[in-house]
Amino acid sequence: MATTASAVVIGGGVVGSSIAHYLAQKGLKDVVLLEKSSIADGATGSSGALVRMHYTDPWNTALALKSLEVFSNWGDLIGGDCGFHKTGFVVVVSKQDSDKLRNNVEMLQGVGVNTDLISLDDLKTLQPQTNIEDVGGAAYEPDSGHADGYSAATALAHRARELGVQVRQGVRVSAIRKDGDKIIGVTTSDGDIDAPIVVLAAGAWSTPLAATVGVDLPVGGQRLTAGAVERPPEFGEPHMVFIDHAVGNYFRPDVGNLTLLGIRPHASASLHVNPDERDEGVALEWQVRSLAQLANRMPAMENAGWRRSWSAVDSYSADGHMILDQSPDVQGLYVATGMSGTGFKTAPAVGMVMAELVLDGKASTVDIQPFRLSRFQENQPIVSENEYEIPPFETPAASGVEIH
Ligand SMILES: Cc1cc2nc3c(=O)[nH]c(=O)nc-3n(C[C@H](O)[C@H](O)[C@H](O)COP(=O)(O)OP(=O)(O)OC[C@H]3O[C@@H](n4cnc5c(N)ncnc54)[C@H](O)[C@@H]3O)c2cc1C
Repeated sequence: MATTASAVVIGGGVVGSSIAHYLAQKGLKDVVLLEKSSIADGATGSSGALVRMHYTDPWNTALALKSLEVFSNWGDLIGGDCGFHKTGFVVVVSKQDSDKLRNNVEMLQGVGVNTDLISLDDLKTLQPQTNIEDVGGAAYEPDSGHADGYSAATALAHRARELGVQVRQGVRVSAIRKDGDKIIGVTTSDGDIDAPIVVLAAGAWSTPLAATVGVDLPVGGQRLTAGAVERPPEFGEPHMVFIDHAVGNYFRPDVGNLTLLGIRPHASASLHVNPDERDEGVALEWQVRSLAQLANRMPAMENAGWRRSWSAVDSYSADGHMILDQSPDVQGLYVATGMSGTGFKTAPAVGMVMAELVLDGKASTVDIQPFRLSRFQENQPIVSENEYEIPPFETPAASGVEIH
């Protein structure tokens, strides 16, 4: 293994793989990407991988929109296949959130997103299976869809390797090293690597690693859960990607006649999960409720059969938005973490802006100032007045849906 590097990237999720790729693409030689297990083994490999632009703030939107260019032209820009399917995307909201939806669509259009409000009649035409009774408004993105977490991250790592990055799997970083206030490298399960630059992109594992050089990250871990159901034959044509804010869930088509759906945990689920504590179990109660939510929006799903469910831990920051910055205290330390359950669709642009920050001293593709680390001390978290209400937890008993 190389004992020196120009830059070490810690974490072979979609974020670290993207950063390593763009560092090399911008011409940096001798980059090393370290992954303690295998590429995409963290949150990335379990991701729902929705690629939609609908955010409630312009900064995440800009990152998602830049990334859409990459997902849509993956073969030319990265190579290989990220599993992107341009299915179209629909967001529906409750009646009380319809003004917020209008404001958000206006904001999204201002950033350049191809989206519009659609009438409920148009929604029925686009997606005839939809129950619109409890829907207050809908918006449509024809260019959005979904990809595949594993495929995207491994394609990025593969291309990074072709560009000269040393991709080391099965190598765990135990500590970042500094001398005074300057980064000097990392200590790993395979020895030390000396490097003046370390990019920390270790997802839910980032906080204890940052602490090894005295940097306190306001980032914890939260378990996210998803499942796959088989659409019944009577469902007909596959559906688009949906985020259903009226009930608080999402679903998208998966391979064959499977539908992937989010399984929202109970509000009491912990925000401080240790990502090394593997817990693949998914409460039956959550599965039942999620299927009930799906069947509410798509009644023809009532007889859908459960096929599997899974979970993984993602990094969550104190305001629920990513942190993209260099440490103000330790020269040479860069941080890309706190993806807060939405870091797949923005990963290509995050790779670009982090490479710009490292090599040019400033991100130019997208303004990342709002994602700075100091926003928490400055009491300037990222908040939007057009955030949708999270509907209350509905008990499965009220739903009447059974697991098949
Ligand atoms: C069920 C689920 C559904 C989701 N749905 C969506 C969605 O629809 N759209 C969307 O945009 N996002 C979604 N997300 C979120 C998204 O997948 C994550 O935000 C994103 O994948 C995080 O990428 P990452 O690279 O930061 O972290 P990870 O993928 O967790 O990667 C971190 C990597 O660092 C490695 N690592 C950790 N510690 C060390 C160490 N000490 N040394 C070396 N390597 C180390 C880990 O092994 C891991 O591979 C979802 C997530 C889940 C779990």
